[in-house]
Amino acid sequence: MNPIKSRRIIKKKAMDSGKDSYLLKTAPNDMAVCKTCGAVYHGKRWSLGKKIAPVLKKPVPVLCPACQKIRDNFADGFVTLKGSFLNAHRDEIIALVRNKEAHAMYHNPLDRVISVKSGKNTVDITTTTEKLAERIGQMIKKAYSGNVEYKWSADTKLARIVWTRDA
Ligand SMILES: [Zn+2]
Repeated sequence: MNPIKSRRIIKKKAMDSGKDSYLLKTAPNDMAVCKTCGAVYHGKRWSLGKKIAPVLKKPVPVLCPACQKIRDNFADGFVTLKGSFLNAHRDEIIALVRNKEAHAMYHNPLDRVISVKSGKNTVDITTTTEKLAERIGQMIKKAYSGNVEYKWSADTKLARIVWTRDA
C-alpha cells in the first residue's frame, strides 16, 4: 500500500484542521521534559541538551511529539534509496543518514528518523518530519550524486523522496 495514500485517509478522519495533531496534543505547561529522549519544552519550543534552570519548577514528564510519532510509527517523511550503487555502499550510506539525524535532532529535537529498513535492493527510511526527509535526500545527492526525486502531498505535510544511483 502506498503509505502517503493511507496516511492521508487517516489524517482526514483524525482531524479537520491543517495543523500537526501531534503538536496540538502536546501543548504542555511551560516546563515539560520528554521521558523518552529528554527533550525539554520551554518557551513554546522543544530543545535538547539544555539544562533546566534551577529556579523553574519541576518539569512535567511527557512524551514529546517526535517520540509519540516514533511510538505510533506515524511518519511525515518517506525516503527510498535504490539502484545498484546502493548495495556496494549500503552501510556507509545508512551511517551517513544516522549522522544526519543526530545533527538535525540537535537543532530541532522533533526531527527524527523513525525507521531504516534494509530491503534486497532498497533502503526505506521514515522520518517524523517532511523536512528531515528532504534534507536526507539533499545530503545523499550531495555525497553520492545520483538522481533524487521529491514529491509532496497537496498540503505539503508529507514528503516522499526517492534517490537512485546505478553504477
Ligand atoms: Zn522525546
